[in-house]
Amino acid sequence: MKITQGPQFNGKASKRMHVMAKPIGAVCNIDCDYCYYLSKQDLLEYKKGCSPEMDESLLEEYIQQYISQQNTPEIIFSWQGGEPTMLGLDYFKKVVEYQQKHCPKGVVISNDLQTNGTLLNDEWCQFFKANNFLIGLSIDGPELMHNTYRTNRAGRGTFRQVMLAVELLHKYEVRFATLTCVNKVTSQSPVEVYRFLRDVVKSPQMQFIPIVEQKTFRTDAPQTDTKAPQYRQGDKRLIPGNKSSVMEPWCVSDEAWGNFLIAVFNEWVMHDFGKIMVQYFEASVEAWMGNKNPLCTLGQVCGKGLALEPNGDVFACDHYVYPEYKIGNIKDTPLADMAFSEKQQSFGLAKSRGINSQCSQCEYQFACYGECPKNRFISSRDGEPGLNYLCAGWKKFFAYIDKPLAYILRNTGHPVAHGKYSDKLIQQATKNR
Ligand code: SF4
Ligand code: SF4
Repeated sequence: MKITQGPQFNGKASKRMHVMAKPIGAVCNIDCDYCYYLSKQDLLEYKKGCSPEMDESLLEEYIQQYISQQNTPEIIFSWQGGEPTMLGLDYFKKVVEYQQKHCPKGVVISNDLQTNGTLLNDEWCQFFKANNFLIGLSIDGPELMHNTYRTNRAGRGTFRQVMLAVELLHKYEVRFATLTCVNKVTSQSPVEVYRFLRDVVKSPQMQFIPIVEQKTFRTDAPQTDTKAPQYRQGDKRLIPGNKSSVMEPWCVSDEAWGNFLIAVFNEWVMHDFGKIMVQYFEASVEAWMGNKNPLCTLGQVCGKGLALEPNGDVFACDHYVYPEYKIGNIKDTPLADMAFSEKQQSFGLAKSRGINSQCSQCEYQFACYGECPKNRFISSRDGEPGLNYLCAGWKKFFAYIDKPLAYILRNTGHPVAHGKYSDKLIQQATKNR
């Protein structure tokens, strides 16, 4: 199976890939407790004298390869960190300059950039607007909630600086989405978090990320320690904050994740359906319609987004930046060879091949596919390893939205391909009457 197959472009088969570039690696100006990337500074090459910044010649090399090795009308560059704005505005002016230099006719280049917002100012926002960047802004909710874990190096909360960034993004009409971590604290106040993002931040697009980190996550790559115990779903040692817990204390629990999504869904469906985009809800609508899930975490295969470090090292996924999952370096191997390599394809297919039998029998498999493999470190209630830590929460959420989604789809003239209230099941029930 080929991972990427698509229509023709310029008379040839289209070829697409996606890379999350981290030109400053894990370096960040703040110090969030739950950050899964800061610790990469110890794990990767940084210690061996590698510059934490991608130098300009490698940057141009990357941009040139990324453009020339795709055949598609739109090429999307994604910039992440650490904190990419620490590189300074001139660095990103160079990025745009190199993109223009290497962009062939008829191709549109777009950029997105994930930031903690603390360094944004008028100049940055003018630049984003002028170059049509899409900004992902990390904000966890109202002041107290945001400041619980999103602190600077002196331990002070960053809320006020982030709210200044929100003002600037609106002032310059920069396209942006919010990224909110659902952790031990924010998961307890879903409606308050949602209303804050909607009414105060005026977020046009919301992404919620569940924080799931075992105490070993800084050093141990997922799926590599076959001897590590896998506790059964429901085991107290999986509850964050519990004395004997194997989870970091700031994590969301499986149940709290499901409850969070349900509470936000209720508010969204009652007041904001069709007005505000909530990524997981939009993705679920697609799944219920029978379409491909746009999110890798809930889709059938992994590996469509590589991660690129400042020294040119490439990894299978942003969540698998561990030495075991390095697939090469752009100085030695063309990017496309790595993106379409057998190694990367088997990484992608492992998501479905390694599915737990609780998942293969689950009535919501079509919407979840066992979720992200990095979270598959528990065992099912009958002892089979490889179940997703968040399973109970996902299942509760999917069961809850099943009926309303079917109702909405039918009323908007769309097919209901899956779920307990699918068109097929309804037709069968009507026939049997
Ligand atoms: S490992 Fe997780 S984040 Fe990476 S591609 Fe797979 S589902 Fe997506
Ligand atoms: S809800 Fe649970 S059992 Fe169902 S597919 Fe998702 S992780 Fe597997």
